[in-house]
Amino acid sequence: MENSNYTRRTPNESLCLEFIMNNKDLSRAELSTMTGLTKATISVIVKKLLEDHLVLETGIGVSSNAGGRKPINLQYNGKAGLSISIDVGYNYINALLSYLDGEEISILQKKPIALNEETIKKHFSEIIESFNESLPQTYYGVIGIVVAVHGPVYDGNIIFTPHYNLDRIPFRKITEELSDYPVYLENEANLSALGEYTFTSESSSLISINMHSGIGAGIVQNGLLQVGSHGFAGEIGHQIVMINGKKCLCGNHGCLEMYAANKVCFEKFAQAKSMDYVNAIILREYYQNHDPDAIQVVQENIRYLSVGINNLIAHYDPEVIVLNSSLYREIPEMIQQLKQILQNRFSNKVIVRNTLLNEKSTLLGGLVLNLQHFLDVKQIKLTD
Ligand SMILES: [Zn+2]
Repeated sequence: MENSNYTRRTPNESLCLEFIMNNKDLSRAELSTMTGLTKATISVIVKKLLEDHLVLETGIGVSSNAGGRKPINLQYNGKAGLSISIDVGYNYINALLSYLDGEEISILQKKPIALNEETIKKHFSEIIESFNESLPQTYYGVIGIVVAVHGPVYDGNIIFTPHYNLDRIPFRKITEELSDYPVYLENEANLSALGEYTFTSESSSLISINMHSGIGAGIVQNGLLQVGSHGFAGEIGHQIVMINGKKCLCGNHGCLEMYAANKVCFEKFAQAKSMDYVNAIILREYYQNHDPDAIQVVQENIRYLSVGINNLIAHYDPEVIVLNSSLYREIPEMIQQLKQILQNRFSNKVIVRNTLLNEKSTLLGGLVLNLQHFLDVKQIKLTD
């Protein structure tokens, strides 16, 4: 659809839309009470949202048990448009085409692949072309493309990407050249946190810790990402846990991710067993068979990560911490062991759990970011 659809909403429209999205089946009267707006104002705003296809009326003409008419309720129309998210990992690209309520239309994975400017252009082009071929008919069409990168992003620009040499790649320009859709760039852990916040949690504050080759955290408070003054908020992989420790690509010595990243854990185990390749599934098999080397690398990972989480809790005091790590997904007992270490007076209130979105949290977070831009809505809860 044309850019004329990307109109800015008035603050009251955004407020009403937010309440309708976050509460299923609201009547106009309830909306008036919740927002503090008069019924006349609500009536005008709802008419506009209905005309814009963002809200639907439900319960029309259905009688209630008491014999009277069931009130007409309002519901967010998650099928009004489409969203594209592309997650660029160190040797993979995942992409999702979904409706605006998160329902998946198509998901693509390219792995393992070598990433440079040329291959990224090629893969992005294939992904967008493939999605464009399977676009269902919707009122708005695609509302935007969100590109997730594994490194800090500030104000739409990559600051650095320690685990792949992609910080000079003009992701936004490449993506804009392939389509007319608005393009947004964001850090993958930040997007994971948005995805978990919107789709799996009732809490107002949530942190997602993402562990792959490095460790990063996304922090969401009241629906909004906390990125800090320079985009470094949540870069917990670069907190120093060992004075005079191993040199990190960020310039420090002894950073957490030099000791607790999944990659470090897999490499250590591969070395102990003289294996070429280890992933979470392989490590889990050895661990379940009580292999002493597997137990050792797993316990070491838990010990280091607990230091990182303890610091995170002391700084942010979140309600929920979600782990996005193939290691902790494959060996969920690691979470229990982690919790046993986190038993001081402030950390024992925090819920620590595995992701409920598997590998889709970043992609669904991309949808949330698209929605925040397109709808001018901040807090979005689309839990069932
Ligand atoms: Zn570092």
